Amino acid sequence: MHEIVRNEFRRYYSGLREEDLEVPDMPQREYAFLQFGGEVMIRHMKFVNPSSLKEYIVENTPAHIYHSSAYYQMPEATDMNEKGWLGADLVFDIDSDHIRTECKDRHDRWHCIECGMGGAGFPPESCPHCGMKKIDTRTWICEDCLQVAKNEVIKILDEYLIPDFGVAETDFEVFFSGHRGYHIHVRSKTFRGLSADGRREVADYVRGIGIDIRSHGFREVKSRILVGPDMKDGGWRGRVARALYEFVNRASLEDLKGIVAPGVAKNLFDNKEKFLKSIESDPPYWGSLKGYTLESLEKIAIASIKDLICNIDERVTIDSKRLIRCPNSLHGKSGLRTLRVDYSSIDDFDPLKEAVAFRHGSIRIYVKEAPRVRIGDEELGPIKDKTLEVPLALGLYLICRGAAEPR
Ligand SMILES: [Zn+2]
Ligand SMILES: [Zn+2]
Repeated sequence: MHEIVRNEFRRYYSGLREEDLEVPDMPQREYAFLQFGGEVMIRHMKFVNPSSLKEYIVENTPAHIYHSSAYYQMPEATDMNEKGWLGADLVFDIDSDHIRTECKDRHDRWHCIECGMGGAGFPPESCPHCGMKKIDTRTWICEDCLQVAKNEVIKILDEYLIPDFGVAETDFEVFFSGHRGYHIHVRSKTFRGLSADGRREVADYVRGIGIDIRSHGFREVKSRILVGPDMKDGGWRGRVARALYEFVNRASLEDLKGIVAPGVAKNLFDNKEKFLKSIESDPPYWGSLKGYTLESLEKIAIASIKDLICNIDERVTIDSKRLIRCPNSLHGKSGLRTLRVDYSSIDDFDPLKEAVAFRHGSIRIYVKEAPRVRIGDEELGPIKDKTLEVPLALGLYLICRGAAEPR
């Protein structure tokens, strides 16, 4: 990596206040670093306070700084079995790279290393031409994909963690990762001791894995007489009930025909109002329409909960020894900060503005190729094969992304 990036990172770390590097229970965490151009993680470091961490990172200026989600008796032990695991935060990783968004057609490219075929947008799993799985990608982020990632954060917290798991506002922190998405750290003691299996249960729960509506109260009491949960019920019971209600309420005949047999769809559509009223009644009644069965209700339920399922990288949630980005550290692939987000005002949070670490100065760069990019209030591109002077944050961003070089 270019020396200028490292120098700017060092200048940034020198200017940090010690409290910016504070993490709860710091002496029980393992710290890890990736150097510029280095591929080997420097691990098993322990820091007892922010000032010793600051001293280390100013001196060594790593490209990436991580701490463990886990708490250990001896974080500095190099053998994982000797560390003495005491528990771990429950972490959710929302990465816009894993979410199919339309904007990817504008800013992402992929090509097959085997045959050279390529295209725009979300990469295929295997090459459509030669079938090989060696796909190289050039991915970028934009306001739109970061907004989608932010919506996922709000969904996980407002729909699941707060109402269903009883997580209090003081029990979690939200961070912009400094590049493609967000992290949620749940620190309450209730979750600390969860095993990997327990964490998997939580991940599956928010991802709606293995949802079976029959275990949420839907059943046939007599031929074609269906009963089910109340929309006011907690957890997935009420969630499925509300989702079904809303889905049927706004569904067109065509929507319904895409899910159930045409006759059932028509019957349901023609009797929509009556059907919705019976769900609202106390106790709710899930209908006795001709041809309408528990199976058809199940199919509509699966379709209706699609948008309620959370897009998380489940590997991160399951892992009880994960290394995660340190607050206020810089992301070596963007030059942006890992920034704590005030959840009460997350709607107004603009990551591409607030996570900017370099607010002054400019830099002359040669840009190989980049789509439209915004950092702070500055916009550039699409651009190809040009040398120009740009604000420092934007220039470092393009250099860190590998799209530009200092000139
Ligand atoms: Zn190919
Ligand atoms: Zn995008």
